[in-house]
Amino acid sequence: MAKGRIIINEDKCKGCDLCVHHCPVDILALDTSRTNKKGYTPLMVTDPDKCIACAFCAMICPDNVITVERFSKS
Ligand code: SF4
Ligand code: SF4
Repeated sequence: MAKGRIIINEDKCKGCDLCVHHCPVDILALDTSRTNKKGYTPLMVTDPDKCIACAFCAMICPDNVITVERFSKS
């Protein structure tokens, strides 16, 4: 069960791969089937259900591409 989700401002991504290597649950990848408006391979989430909302990806991204939304406990 996901603890949150990330929102990707895809057209700002420059496909640098930094966030991909910092996700502790390994659910980030570059989507090699597409390019964004800047012509880069954009970030995608491979398994959203595993996101622990740690925000490491958002902190490491140099271009503020990622916003993390934490789900509240019910
Ligand atoms: S918030 Fe944490 S678990 Fe979720 S995608 Fe980013 S680095 Fe991975
Ligand atoms: S760190 Fe930012 S710019 Fe780099 S791949 Fe991840 S989202 Fe894209």
